[in-house]
Amino acid sequence: MKHLHYCTAFTLTLLLVATSCKQALPPQTEFKMGTVCSINLFEKGTPQLYSEIFQRLTDLESILSANRNDTNIAEINAKAGIAPFKAAPETLYVLQTALLYSEKTQGAFDPTIGPLVKAWNIGTEYAAVPSPEVIKKVRSLIDYRKIVIDPVKGTVFLPLPGMKLDLGAIAKGYAADEIVTILTKHKIKKAIIDLGGNIFAYGEKTPNKNWIIGIRNPENPDENSILTIPVTNKTIVTSGVYERFFEQDGIRYHHILDPATGFPVNNDLLSVTIITSISINADALSTSAFLLGTDRGMALINSLPDTEAIFINKKHEIRVTPGLKNNISLKNTDYTVIQ
Ligand code: FAD
Ligand code: MG
Repeated sequence: MKHLHYCTAFTLTLLLVATSCKQALPPQTEFKMGTVCSINLFEKGTPQLYSEIFQRLTDLESILSANRNDTNIAEINAKAGIAPFKAAPETLYVLQTALLYSEKTQGAFDPTIGPLVKAWNIGTEYAAVPSPEVIKKVRSLIDYRKIVIDPVKGTVFLPLPGMKLDLGAIAKGYAADEIVTILTKHKIKKAIIDLGGNIFAYGEKTPNKNWIIGIRNPENPDENSILTIPVTNKTIVTSGVYERFFEQDGIRYHHILDPATGFPVNNDLLSVTIITSISINADALSTSAFLLGTDRGMALINSLPDTEAIFINKKHEIRVTPGLKNNISLKNTDYTVIQ
């Protein structure tokens, strides 16, 4: 009887091992935060883990989205000029991090960009060039230095009626970091996180082997990669003219807006890619460096530890930080790497 019991336990263990192997799902994709989010957990991809990750994305969207009327951001915006709003710790963290980049860029990166984003409506069917009057009015509402944060009470207050936060330039990076926190908690060794092009190549691909990440051709994003880079446990985030844009009278208007002019930033850049260890920093920096342009953007990146960048411009020139010089493989000969 006892022998039979052992046998049953052994069979059961085998069965459990077999089913847990079987349970590994293929990469999972869901539409979150206005973009396609794909996660690949490889052989550790259980339905439970995928569902915990996508649930976290759902929760973050319900706190941080500027496109809904029930989020912290919507509440803070609705109370602009009226009263402070007690925000979730996530909101305070992402906003406070955004403000560090506003300081580093002398206000080119500004989380109070919301009224301008709404005025342009880029990414919606109502996208159009706003009138000079509207541009003038909304520009007067943009100033990160006016945000009042009470860290003790955990409140955020926008003092001018009509002021609006928009964390679209940084919140996907934070979401990627939050997924990494879940993976670390579950002792997962490797994964690929892709939140609409905001990538985290987590862990090692196989022992001593890098992930090879392709960078899109900003003029033909659906074509083959323009170049590849080997990375291990890094986040790779790109801001570019091709992510969201519309055309009016033959002119392309993209979604990275210059608070100084009220128009899409107009420099020689097509895209900026950042490679570093923390995705919220990479997301803030890709937008910041794009706004600053090649020279000032490169100077900012070079002042930071553990941060590499790829700047691609309209003359088809690629500039990279010193740490990448011997590391990139160019795949498209229409482009030249400038040393
Ligand atoms: P990035 O370069 O990282 O950021 C560009 C975005 O930052 C712009 O789209 C604008 O939102 C903002 N921005 C522009 N200029 C500046 C500036 N000077 N300083 C600071 N920020 C600036 N999209 C939808 O269509 N529908 C949705 O329901 C929706 N929900 C979302 C929910 C969340 C939580 C997040 C994070 C994003 C959501 N989005 C949604 C997408 C969002 O509107 C942006 O398009 C997206 O975040 C841009 O990311 P990016 O990496 O392409 O560009
Ligand atoms: Mg960004």
